[in-house]
Amino acid sequence: MCRSKSVSYFAHDPAHRLLPAAAAGDGGEEFTCGGCLVAGAGPRYRCATPGCSFTIHEACALRFPKSLKSTLHRQHRLKRRRESSAAGVCDVCGEDVKGACYGCATCGVALHPLCARMPGVARGGAHPAEHEAWLVRASSSTATAADGGNGEKQAAPAAAGCAACGRLVGSWRYRCVTATCGAEFHPRCLLPAAEQCRGGGEGEEGSVGKGCCCGMLHYVTYCLAISSYGYHYRF
Ligand SMILES: [Zn+2]
Ligand SMILES: [Zn+2]
Ligand SMILES: [Zn+2]
Ligand SMILES: [Zn+2]
Ligand SMILES: [Zn+2]
Ligand SMILES: [Zn+2]
Repeated sequence: MCRSKSVSYFAHDPAHRLLPAAAAGDGGEEFTCGGCLVAGAGPRYRCATPGCSFTIHEACALRFPKSLKSTLHRQHRLKRRRESSAAGVCDVCGEDVKGACYGCATCGVALHPLCARMPGVARGGAHPAEHEAWLVRASSSTATAADGGNGEKQAAPAAAGCAACGRLVGSWRYRCVTATCGAEFHPRCLLPAAEQCRGGGEGEEGSVGKGCCCGMLHYVTYCLAISSYGYHYRF
C-alpha cells in the first residue's frame, strides 16, 4: 500500500488515513460524501482503518483547504467549516448545507465545497449536447440605461423558470449562450453533484494540482465574453 498517497481529513479522526479507492466500472456507482454529505461518483477516498467506512469525494480529500478564494464569492475569502452551523442553504445551488462546507461570516453565507468550484461552463443534462451554458449570477439591478439605444436588446432575464424542472431559478444559474435558446437552469439541474465529480462541465476538476489561476483566467474570459453578449450580469 502506498503510504505517500494517503491523506487525512480535517473533520475525521486524524489517526485514520484515507486512500484513493477505485470506483467500480467507470465511476458510475454513486455514494454520499462523508465530509460534505453531498452525492458523489467517480474518484473517491476511503478510510483505510478496519471497520471505518468513511468515504469522501476526491475533491474533498485533496482540494479542501482551510480557506479558499472562490470565483463564486469574490468579495471575501471563504473559511472551511466542519458543519454548516446556522447557515441554511448553499448560496450557489440553493440546497441544504448539512456537512462540512465553506462559509463567509461577513455575509452569513455557506457553500458546498463542490459548489465553491462549480465549473463556469457546463453542457448536457436536459439540453442539446452542443449547447454551452455559462454559470452566471443575475444582477439585482438588471434595468440599465446604458444600452437604451439598442433597439432589439435582450429583455431583462426576469422570472424565467428552470428549463429542466420548471421552478424559478435563484441568482446563480446556468444560462445557455446559444442565441436561439437562452435556456436557464438551476446549477444542480444541469450539472448534478455526482456528474461534476465525474468531470462534467469544464471546470478545474481534472486539472488537479494546477492551482486555481487557470480556472480564474478562464472565468474572466467568460465574463468578458458575456459582457459582449450584452447580458447584464454582475459577477
Ligand atoms: Zn464531499
Ligand atoms: Zn476512519
Ligand atoms: Zn451547493
Ligand atoms: Zn462574504
Ligand atoms: Zn431546476
Ligand atoms: Zn441551449
